[in-house]
Amino acid sequence: MSQKTYQICTRCVMDTSDPDISFDANGQCNHCSDALRRLEQSYMPDARGQEKLEKLVEEMRHAGRGKDYDCLIGLSGGVDSSWLTYKSKEWGLRPLVFHVDAGWNTPVAEQNIQRLISHLGYELHTCTIDWEEMRDLQRAYLYSALANQDVPQDHAFFAVLFHTAAKMGLRYWLSGFNLVSESVLPRAWGYMAMDSRQLKAIHKRFGQRPLRHFPTLSFWDCCKFYNDIPLFPTVKAVTPLHWMPYNPDEAKLVLQREAGWENYGRKHSESRFTKLIQNYYLPTKFGFDIRRAHLSSLIAAGQMTREEALTQLQEPLYEPEELREDTAFVLERLGLTEADWERLMALPNRTFRDYPNRSGMLHAARNVKVFLRRMGIVK
Ligand SMILES: [Zn+2]
Repeated sequence: MSQKTYQICTRCVMDTSDPDISFDANGQCNHCSDALRRLEQSYMPDARGQEKLEKLVEEMRHAGRGKDYDCLIGLSGGVDSSWLTYKSKEWGLRPLVFHVDAGWNTPVAEQNIQRLISHLGYELHTCTIDWEEMRDLQRAYLYSALANQDVPQDHAFFAVLFHTAAKMGLRYWLSGFNLVSESVLPRAWGYMAMDSRQLKAIHKRFGQRPLRHFPTLSFWDCCKFYNDIPLFPTVKAVTPLHWMPYNPDEAKLVLQREAGWENYGRKHSESRFTKLIQNYYLPTKFGFDIRRAHLSSLIAAGQMTREEALTQLQEPLYEPEELREDTAFVLERLGLTEADWERLMALPNRTFRDYPNRSGMLHAARNVKVFLRRMGIVK
């Protein structure tokens, strides 16, 4: 990274590597105030959350009557979805546990999934994305020089889960999204994965083979997903981790002790591709370290001190040998040479605005919910 001087927030560890960051008179950043407001509004690790959770579980059981399952869970092998799957057993739910294999699972992630499923006595359903298409799309994304290189994996994940739940008539999708570890994420550091217009435009420009089987979400799918309109009952994503005490480190210890689960390292390192992107591509090419967002989320949630986070940030992103191994692995899987990689790293950086997108429409679709709520049409 360059020798530029960064201003760091006095409360969390976000800094001016986010070009949109702002600070108040005490040097505290906008991410702190946003995260604290969201936590105050929506994170309820208390009796209020317990009540909401019990009501939700009852609704899911009711919706599942006469069906094989009460809800759907997407299990990635990471801690958030593993913990949710583990808790679903305690809640007496009958989830359809679904794994989307985009071709990058680490052996530890695979093993975690198998051990957890066998410990809970669940059956695992897996959808494997057509690898040739996935590879072509991921190469296209690298040539697009965008920061969010996880879009192909994430879009496939959302699309498969959404369409599976819809096809099976399941009303509830249990999402592992949580405010404890994910309340801070600067908009300048990425772009939403739901935008199939952008995905197809990038593939059209840089891809080499047609996408025949790759699962996508249409604009209408997104509208239905964001807005649970009574006229068009659809799959509803719910986030139970908002309504219970959630500590990812403690969850990992319980999963290790109870299900023989193994720690895979940093957040999102269950995918070897994402690990290389987060720990090398983004800091080297885009000049930001995504650990700052993860650690700042934990600080906002009161689960880490700023000093502990600063100490963790001193740890190298990669040991040289591990970086060589992961780079070689990813390049080989993608059919790229080291010279290709150097060219990709040297491309001028782009943002989502440089390619066709539905950003405005998708934000408007989300805002429709606020309008419908005010009109009393949805709860
Ligand atoms: Zn801050």
